[in-house]
Amino acid sequence: MAFRARHLLGIEPLQPLEITTVLDLAERYVELNRRTVKQSDALAGMTQINMFFEASTRTQSSFEIAGKRLGADVMNMSVAQSSVKKGETLIDTALTLNAMHPDLLVVRHPSSGAVNLLAQKVDCAVLNAGDGRHEHPTQALLDALTIRRAKGRIQRLTIAICGDIAHSRVARSNLILLGKMENRLRLIGPPTLMPAGVADLGAEVYDDMREGLKGADVVMMLRLQKERMDGGFVPSMREYYHRFGLDAEKLSHAAPDAIVMHPGPMNRGVEIDGDLADDINRSVIQDQVEMGVAVRMACMDLLARNLRRERGRKIAETLV
Ligand code: ASP
Repeated sequence: MAFRARHLLGIEPLQPLEITTVLDLAERYVELNRRTVKQSDALAGMTQINMFFEASTRTQSSFEIAGKRLGADVMNMSVAQSSVKKGETLIDTALTLNAMHPDLLVVRHPSSGAVNLLAQKVDCAVLNAGDGRHEHPTQALLDALTIRRAKGRIQRLTIAICGDIAHSRVARSNLILLGKMENRLRLIGPPTLMPAGVADLGAEVYDDMREGLKGADVVMMLRLQKERMDGGFVPSMREYYHRFGLDAEKLSHAAPDAIVMHPGPMNRGVEIDGDLADDINRSVIQDQVEMGVAVRMACMDLLARNLRRERGRKIAETLV
């Protein structure tokens, strides 16, 4: 099997073949999820804990559904009511949970690198559900599956990522994944929302939507991450929408069959026109949500197989 990882902390360490392995397995789960009976036993007997230190709608609920469909016992740790609020450190919380022998730990945290740190302290497989501005690997994988299904391939496409690039872990993970798969990448947004060292990311940079969208096969919009801004990054929402909000006119500069994506949550009328977001002929936003469950099932299934293999090896060693 091509997927050897112990944890899923980011796209960075993955080989293209590992990415394809996740997408191929996820296709099987798309089929399962469309049936009336959606049960598999890939995680039977295993315990999955979801630990979200930052708000989430889609990611947390889809990890929960994914785990349940695979037969795991799923626990959502409510951070608001946990000892974290009483000052317990992330590491103490991790060690406490580790003592309960979970098999999969799904973690979202506002600090970049926090999930990697936690993974070093526990015995189970850790999945990064988004850490600060760093990575959001399952989002990039579900985006890749959505693109592959809509376009028939995940290579040699022109893909425009637009908006608040600087604060976006979605942009970062997508740039890494889509770059590994040899696509032509464009970043479009105001210079204030471009990260430092953007030239090294292997993408063309634009601050004009119409120019940057020219001939694009995929248009990926990003949310303005106001919670990560500490000053005036944009003059006003109105002005931002006028220059960078995606509407039918700006989209007309992309390829005639270009698809529109958004990871959610969307600010309608800020980064995207509401009618365009709902236009099922152009927007694949709901497909992204559907693919999210299947991709998370595939990731947890693959990590669980590796975990079983590792534990089997350890038991065999003690018997020698
Ligand atoms: N839901 C995505 C994330 O957690 C995108 C966003 O919040 O804008 O990064």
